[in-house]
Amino acid sequence: MSLMGQMMQQPLLISSLLQHAARHFPNVEIVSKRVEGDVHRSTWAAVARRSRQFAQAMSRLGCVPGDRIATLAWNGYRHLEIYYGSSGSGLVCHTINPRLFPEQIAWIANDAQDAVLCFDLNFLPLVEKLAPQLTSVRHFVLMVGRSHMPAASSLPNLLCFDELVDLEDGAYTWPQLDENTASSICYTSGTTGNPKGAVYSHRSTLLHAYASALPDAMNCSARDTILPVVPMFHVNAWGLPYSCALVGAKLVLPGPHLDGKSLYELFESEGVTFSAGVPTVWLGLITYVKSQGLKFSSFKRTVIGGSACPPAMMKTLQEDFGVEVIHAWGMTELSPLGTLSKLGTQQLKLPPNEQRKLLEKQGHVIYGIDMTIIDDDGHALPWDGQSAGNLVVRGGWVIDRYYGSEASPLVSVDGEPGWFPTGDVATIDAHGFMQITDRSKDVIKSGGEWISSIDLENIAMAHPAVHEAAVIAAKHPKWDERPLLVVVKKPDASVSREELLAFYEGRIAKWQIPDDVVFVAELPHTATGKIQKLKLRDQLKDHVLAQSPA
Ligand code: ADP
Repeated sequence: MSLMGQMMQQPLLISSLLQHAARHFPNVEIVSKRVEGDVHRSTWAAVARRSRQFAQAMSRLGCVPGDRIATLAWNGYRHLEIYYGSSGSGLVCHTINPRLFPEQIAWIANDAQDAVLCFDLNFLPLVEKLAPQLTSVRHFVLMVGRSHMPAASSLPNLLCFDELVDLEDGAYTWPQLDENTASSICYTSGTTGNPKGAVYSHRSTLLHAYASALPDAMNCSARDTILPVVPMFHVNAWGLPYSCALVGAKLVLPGPHLDGKSLYELFESEGVTFSAGVPTVWLGLITYVKSQGLKFSSFKRTVIGGSACPPAMMKTLQEDFGVEVIHAWGMTELSPLGTLSKLGTQQLKLPPNEQRKLLEKQGHVIYGIDMTIIDDDGHALPWDGQSAGNLVVRGGWVIDRYYGSEASPLVSVDGEPGWFPTGDVATIDAHGFMQITDRSKDVIKSGGEWISSIDLENIAMAHPAVHEAAVIAAKHPKWDERPLLVVVKKPDASVSREELLAFYEGRIAKWQIPDDVVFVAELPHTATGKIQKLKLRDQLKDHVLAQSPA
């Protein structure tokens, strides 16, 4: 008979993160720039107390374990209290992206069967408009204090968040749930059909929090002041509300104030050391800081992911501002972290330009995730940095199936089942560094060869006159598809189509150089800040290419 371990059994529960932070880092601050306009200061101890009160309030409203508590809210302390108060008590926190179309929001809320909807003040008109379509919501909670409650609202029995919480005494003990209990739900943005729900568990959330806090991942510590620019409705702000509690970091929450000036001021006034967000927000911040001739005094490193971080952006942050950029890849279905670009001792032996090339990739997996690339027949491809294939992953915080669906999305690799197909196309090199070349639906297929739109975008972004760039497939009679570059120029910059195309010479194989350039005032973005290539392709479907290879 095998000998069993004789250690305590403790389920991995989200409430344990909050209890830890409140007990061992009670006075560490949670600072929020509120929708109401002012700055609010709280602590882990106060957030823990109010989270317990929130759990009591939900129970008083008749919520039972498993009920979904939805949010339409920016990053702020009340949102954090809903995260912990709902998941901790066995309810399921469902963060909805308020930037989606109203019909999509209603569809998602109904699909998830949300029982309660909590929302920030600026979403009141939206929720009033949506309410008749929300078939399962029993209670509407406005995330404000009494003084900000509207005199009248069309919402039936609109409740005030602070009033609900203040009514309770906080004498509440977190239940010892099964660690596999659902803790939260996030929907993908539905770039391919209806959005799909990923249902996280306490266990998967805790494992993700541990792994993402590690030095070669986000490197979170009690010495950090962390400002997640990535919204709490975008894959749980990449897990930072959990990993910050795990290490006892100070948390700074910017609310809806995500323009360059507001962010810069908050970084400086609160001494932010670490941040995380998608490339588009950094564009805004960098433009502001540069135009004002400013520097960061405490900001040391940032994780950039969600879409490819252009090397030019990395270079600016690193060389002009001394901010280390950690390029990361993940997705809703992965809670979201999969890989990060950090060098180990082996890579540090390489010459500087090779190190830089590795850092520009999406990086190495973190423990807990396994990945590989496969061809269309399910065979593993070599890790040679050249062969591009479908990226598949597995691990303790990867979905097994989508919410409400019995069908398994998983595929086999060389006959071995249990891998999640990400829909991304990637290479993996001998160092184990993965590089996304495209989403499979964005790949440009020219005469049977694949051209990476990300490579072409990164080159354009390195041109001094380019603010933002997207490369899409344009239909071509001979080659099937050819790359078309769409560019937003920097304010006051001037550059011609010919100059931009000439900029590609020597930087990429000649046959991969885009056939044409279209200048636009702005690019369409998805609700999570990515370039909406489907929409762009549709907008430019009648564009006639100016030149093509013979
Ligand atoms: P959606 O955009 O569908 O809401 P996610 O926010 O989960 O979904 O986005 C996941 C996708 O974003 C990935 O599958 C990948 O295509 C893209 N992505 C994420 N990080 C990166 C990155 N660093 N480089 C390139 N693409 C990325």
